[in-house]
Amino acid sequence: MAGRRTVIIGAGVVGAALADELSARGWTDITVVDQGDLPVTGGSSSHAPGLVFQASGSKVLTEMARYTVEKFVSLQHEGQSCFLQVGGLEVATTPERLAELHRRHGWLTSWGVEAEVVDADRCVELHSLVDRDQVLGGLWCPTDGLAKALWAVEAQIERAKGRGVKFLARHEVTDIRVEDDKVVGVVTDHGELPADIVVSCAGIWGPKVAALVGLDLPLTPLAHQLAVTGSIPEVAGQTDEAIRPILRHQEHGLYYRDNFDGLTIGYYHHEPMPISAYDIRAVDETEEMPSVLEFTPEDFEPAWAETQALLPATNDTKVEEGINGLFSFTTDGMPLLGESREVKGFWVAEAVWVTHSAGVGRAMAEWLANGHCETFDIHECDVNRFEDYQIAPAYVLERDCQNFREVYDILHPLQPMDSPRNVRLSPFFSREEELDAFFLPANGWERPHWYGANAGLVERYDIPTPNDWAARYWDPIVGAEAKATREGVAMYDMTALKRINVTGPGAVDFLQRLCTNDVDKSVGAVVYTLLLGADGGIRSDITVARLGNHHYQVGANGALDIDWFERHLPEDGTVQVTDITPGTCCIGLWGPKARDVLAGITDADMTNDGLKYFRAKSLTIGNVPVTAWRLSYVGELGWEIYTTADLGQRLWDTLWEAGQEHGIIAAGRGAFNSLRLEKGYRSFGGDMTNEHDPYEAGLGFAVKLDKGDFIGRDALIARKERQTRTLACLTIDSTEDVVLGKEPVFADGKPVGYVTSAAYGYTIEKGIAYAWLPLEVAEVGTELEIGYFDKRVRAVVTAEPLFDPKMTRLRG
Ligand SMILES: Cc1cc2nc3c(=O)[nH]c(=O)nc-3n(C[C@H](O)[C@H](O)[C@H](O)COP(=O)(O)OP(=O)(O)OC[C@H]3O[C@@H](n4cnc5c(N)ncnc54)[C@H](O)[C@@H]3O)c2cc1C
Repeated sequence: MAGRRTVIIGAGVVGAALADELSARGWTDITVVDQGDLPVTGGSSSHAPGLVFQASGSKVLTEMARYTVEKFVSLQHEGQSCFLQVGGLEVATTPERLAELHRRHGWLTSWGVEAEVVDADRCVELHSLVDRDQVLGGLWCPTDGLAKALWAVEAQIERAKGRGVKFLARHEVTDIRVEDDKVVGVVTDHGELPADIVVSCAGIWGPKVAALVGLDLPLTPLAHQLAVTGSIPEVAGQTDEAIRPILRHQEHGLYYRDNFDGLTIGYYHHEPMPISAYDIRAVDETEEMPSVLEFTPEDFEPAWAETQALLPATNDTKVEEGINGLFSFTTDGMPLLGESREVKGFWVAEAVWVTHSAGVGRAMAEWLANGHCETFDIHECDVNRFEDYQIAPAYVLERDCQNFREVYDILHPLQPMDSPRNVRLSPFFSREEELDAFFLPANGWERPHWYGANAGLVERYDIPTPNDWAARYWDPIVGAEAKATREGVAMYDMTALKRINVTGPGAVDFLQRLCTNDVDKSVGAVVYTLLLGADGGIRSDITVARLGNHHYQVGANGALDIDWFERHLPEDGTVQVTDITPGTCCIGLWGPKARDVLAGITDADMTNDGLKYFRAKSLTIGNVPVTAWRLSYVGELGWEIYTTADLGQRLWDTLWEAGQEHGIIAAGRGAFNSLRLEKGYRSFGGDMTNEHDPYEAGLGFAVKLDKGDFIGRDALIARKERQTRTLACLTIDSTEDVVLGKEPVFADGKPVGYVTSAAYGYTIEKGIAYAWLPLEVAEVGTELEIGYFDKRVRAVVTAEPLFDPKMTRLRG
């Protein structure tokens, strides 16, 4: 691999980090081209003020930021560190923000970064310009600080050069040569470079470069205001570049850093100013940077007023200069990393902040060199994570602008986007609306979270009310629907889950190679299995139904599963992979009375003998041909019932009518989530990710080591011997503090792990939280605490599953 000719486009902080990390792994046939000069190319890195705050709800972003901090601290530029570790302070001026800072503190603790929430006096002690009367407290992270972005670029370039990497300044890439769907070269305005691997680190120009190989990159360059004050008399004469911590005042979209005896101020609360990558000025002979647009002082006026309120000393100075600087935003706020699905050898590393740049460099280098990233779980950053509708230009522009607006907002984990909505509608949608569904989007589908029509059920049960935060996007109906499912029967719209057909004479061998479980079973068998990476880490969990000798239907998690399948297709064309999600739909019919509902509307034998647990068969329900899979993620008798989209509404109506005499209800995702956790069913992405293996995740039952080879098998065997942590089930007595995920877990007051997913269990009448814990504190009965805002909530490790461990309900 190391001998592959590699061209990196862009020598900003991302391209430089990648050149450094790749060359450190023995890759030296690397050429880095940039249209600008080196190291000041004129891209975003050339004027980034370099604030590095590590706090994030995303574990991988915090981990990448922490790596950037560690690397830049020791990275030397002319004998000086590339990082000024002045610490980071986020201040709260409202009670809501103070609560949010406690939540953010929880994330840092969960992801292993030390920080503390401090009172107003301490805020002033830490940052002498802050007005004591304005703030209620702050989040203090002593390892945050200022990346000297340009120094870091230069230092990493020098190191890479020392290992033989070539850097070509003033070389604009004008085309990328592709043959047989593989890159073969890069065309610049100074000639052509042959290449086996091309990595675009072109930042705000990313969409333009990606378009050269026909890739639509969902990224929008947006202008962001940065202003510099004159000298502040109160600190006049400060000769150090920065001594006060970097400071965030999120309530008003502001951040600050010392700039000797003045301040540099960043501002996000102006209206988004998007620009097309094609309209960004080219590098020319002037001193002007293409990524810098003219400052619009009128947009900055509110920022200056708020600054003077928070930092009264700024009343004695003024804004001397400013820019509207361009950088990249994406639809979900995450970077875009990975290889194009269509063009082999074309990779991107875009929409990356300075904060995460070294982490991204490392992730990309590992991925390129070893085929996967060992250090970080990067599935949230994968460029192939999007559904087609999420790449439509109108969607990208709207979501990217909204992400700019929300960059510092307090966002509830369930908070839906306001727009665009109603993008993907299941065939049950109008019926769900009639039942007054409260919808939350999932993969673009409108999915009921609960149904207003079930309000009458609430009085039947005693449903505890969670506190304010947990009560958002919640209704007691959620609890009533959960209870009613366990007692009677409910219909769940399962359309939002991805469905994939795998067909062809090579289908069995193909799936056997990818799956940990044995899927070479008789027609009609349904198998829960995992997909592993070569390192034995979980890439996904899927359910595979064999519907014919050469036909499987797969219930999957998302677009990355399709991507994984397509990357492993045999070249001989014996396997076809088709996303059938849009043309199909699914209802989960579950509950002890599920069989009664079907009794009058199908001739098929739905008894235990007629359709056993984890078997599938075709039948008709009324006039509707369906496939029924006998399984249930809510832990009750019943089936996932699939049909084509055109027949969906008819299926709904048929079940609904037949169910009336059995008290059928429609139930939403809120109830589903609670019921699933009572049964201990894991969810990929939350409970387990690429960094976990099946044994520690409690999914060893889905691995058949003796079935023959499969991807990840060897690595998994080695990992099996080295288990140090586990995904444990905790129960919580408090009915108010319903944790939501990502909260830290403490043993004897020390952080030991973090919550993955959580819900209130209405049947078991306790809160449930799954958490990653070291084995030594995961014994059943161990008493722990969960950090929930500024509280510690008592939790106990409990044997799982919490409900029906003998499986009598499912097999009944
Ligand atoms: C005002 C402002 C403040 C910011 N503040 C912070 C902050 O405090 N903290 C933080 O973490 N981040 C901050 N950012 C964001 C950060 O600066 C960027 O996300 C980061 O610098 C992007 O690095 P990059 O290497 O991807 O892009 P760039 O630095 O833009 O590098 C891309 C390179 O690709 C080259 N290129 C593009 N197209 C071609 C082509 N066709 N041929 C050859 N070369 C090409 C360009 O010349 C450029 O050098 C800020 C950004 C702005 C604008």
